[in-house]
Amino acid sequence: QDDKFKKVISHAKEYGYVFQSSEIYDGLSAVYDYAQNGAELKKNIRDYWWKAMVQMNENIVGIDAAIFMHPTTWKASGHVDAFNDPLIDNKDSKKRYRADVLVEDYCAKIEAKINKEVAKAAKRFGESFNKEEFVSTNGRVLGYQEKIKTTLSRMAKSLESEDLADVKALIEELEIADPLTGSKNWTDVKQFNLMFGTKLGASAESAMDLYLRPETAQGIFVNFLNVQKTGRMKIPFGIAQTGKAFRNEIVARQFIFRMREFEQMEMQFFIKPGTQKKWYKHWKEHRMKWHLSLGMGADNYRFHDHEKLAHYADAASDIEFKFPFGFKELEGIHSRTDFDLKAHEEHSGKKLQYFDHEDNASYTPYVLETSIGLDRMFLAVFSNSLQEEALENGTTRTVFKLPSVLAPVKAAILPLVKKDGLPEVARKIVDELKWDFNVIYDEKDAVGRRYRRQDANGTPFCITVDHDTLEDNMVTIRHRDTMEQQRVKIEDLRNIIKEEVDV
Ligand code: ATP
Repeated sequence: QDDKFKKVISHAKEYGYVFQSSEIYDGLSAVYDYAQNGAELKKNIRDYWWKAMVQMNENIVGIDAAIFMHPTTWKASGHVDAFNDPLIDNKDSKKRYRADVLVEDYCAKIEAKINKEVAKAAKRFGESFNKEEFVSTNGRVLGYQEKIKTTLSRMAKSLESEDLADVKALIEELEIADPLTGSKNWTDVKQFNLMFGTKLGASAESAMDLYLRPETAQGIFVNFLNVQKTGRMKIPFGIAQTGKAFRNEIVARQFIFRMREFEQMEMQFFIKPGTQKKWYKHWKEHRMKWHLSLGMGADNYRFHDHEKLAHYADAASDIEFKFPFGFKELEGIHSRTDFDLKAHEEHSGKKLQYFDHEDNASYTPYVLETSIGLDRMFLAVFSNSLQEEALENGTTRTVFKLPSVLAPVKAAILPLVKKDGLPEVARKIVDELKWDFNVIYDEKDAVGRRYRRQDANGTPFCITVDHDTLEDNMVTIRHRDTMEQQRVKIEDLRNIIKEEVDV
């Protein structure tokens, strides 16, 4: 799996998807730039989300709030007081870690042992091996499972009660060592706020302390009444937004999975108090359907319902995706009650209520949130689509099976040779198709190599112009996934591509 992840990262660079930020200065940790193809893929994912959320739902509208917000926002939201990570330093190496991540990594190692036992047994028993039965009866595996369960639940309890001394005790009892140096000499665990601070205003005295927003949600809450009134929205209704968020993450790893500057796609759905269970269920189902509509395999997703809830929630579930490093959170669905609007009422002194004509009464709405990281979705799509295929002739091909609707380039137009008028015909096809699709022209190298290049870039179609084209106005269209080739009329190309890449 490590190998797979390394391939993902190098493919992202080699094909112009993701670069380390400021690479010529040796990069900036956990900050990345999207390159020419990456920017397209990211935009297509954002558009796919926006279309499903805003365009397809008449009771959901989209906004674009500023990244800077009045500092009281973050008092009200709880981020000033409660947006912390528990950190621990190693006294010898002077390295800093997230205490909870050290414990989780320890559990992941035990999980790896379980997998090893299972693999060994599967080999031994062959066809008759039943994994579930083995796991539920094997003493050693049961012991490992119990250890993971008690460790994680003890950590969750200590974090919840902010009994950080117990997190340290746990790390010492488990004899967790500094992953880099092996030292077990730990400091106490301390809370560390994840928000980036900055200043607004020129002079030192009048400057105002600000934060870069750590989530886009608050931009929606503070605009709730403006949108409701000007859009004459009736409850239930939603406000959607995509945009940058910033978190000073300490454990920067796993490529674009955890970044310091990232993008969120969030939707806050305002509902009548008491109906939150129904809407929670509704949005869990709807969001899962959206994921499955991309055809990346139902086995790659699962729900993880939270037992430990954030201060604002009365129910919460993650949609987890099977990344190359295991199942991890991709999206969160949270029933936030009236926590946010009430807190903003309190801190601003303004009423944020809705008058319900049916009930002839005012109330502070409850909120159901769906929140997904655009970069995480990018990584999910990217890692799942990158495949190596063994071909009949004994070679392998790298094929990047991006869902066609998301592919950065929809078709490459290739003249078979660089002469005899073929480039001119190919250019003409590009000029016709580019009004509807992102297409490219490529005449370099033998056509087989050009096919492979487009396969690895995720381009769903290659269109080849040959000498016959000059006679019959037909071209060869090759499908990325099946490598099938068809002879079709130039005038039909638009519809053929549209059929495949339209939502
Ligand atoms: P995690 O537990 O992984 O830190 P979270 O529970 O703090 O995530 P939320 O605050 O619920 O995340 O944010 C919603 C979504 O934003 C997450 O599901 C994830 O997809 C994305 N996200 C959060 N933090 C980051 C980050 N540092 N880099 C990239 N995406 C992120």
